[in-house]
Amino acid sequence: MIEEIVSYNKDRVVMIDEAYIDFGGQSALELINKYDNLLVIQTFSKSRAMAGMRIGYAMGQPKLIRYLNDVKFSVNSYTMNRPSLILGVEAVRDDDYFRKIVGMIMSTREWMKKELSGLGFSFPDSRSNFIFATHEKYPAKELFEYLKTKKIYVRYFAQPRIDNYLRITVGTDDEAKALIEALRTYIR
Ligand SMILES: *Cc1c(COP(=O)(O)O)cnc(C)c1O
Repeated sequence: MIEEIVSYNKDRVVMIDEAYIDFGGQSALELINKYDNLLVIQTFSKSRAMAGMRIGYAMGQPKLIRYLNDVKFSVNSYTMNRPSLILGVEAVRDDDYFRKIVGMIMSTREWMKKELSGLGFSFPDSRSNFIFATHEKYPAKELFEYLKTKKIYVRYFAQPRIDNYLRITVGTDDEAKALIEALRTYIR
């Protein structure tokens, strides 16, 4: 798995993108102590709902971070502004709020998984804030169009291999209930 990729590629830098890690995934972070070719990157854009703030970070051994800084200070024009610095710090300080919101999303997601399975959907297990689901009988495009008429917006990509899948964002409990209710009246 992740460790194999890192250990088989010692002459390359391996970057693990953990954009969704706070929703219950297993982080590769501890591997940075063992491998000097690993960078783990995370963001405030998803679990902290702060996409506009442009806060992201990389974790790795000091030498790798030094190289990253060498490049960054010459080419990266996306430095953090003062609101991002202040609000970013506050977001980290309010850990209770963060855990509460992430916990709500995870429990809504688990409820949605159960309901969607019951309605005949299948999906790779999700540890993120969306579920990528396909239905055994109803084409994804048809469900997508139907949901739109109910003002429920999920994502549909007319691309090879994923054109029978819906990408459903977890959202609030009420939104999840509205989705499941709408699907229940359509799927029978
Ligand atoms: C959102 C996201 C990111 C990070 O986005 P930024 O807003 O640029 O921090 C990285 N990888 C994936 C897969 C994402 O979905």
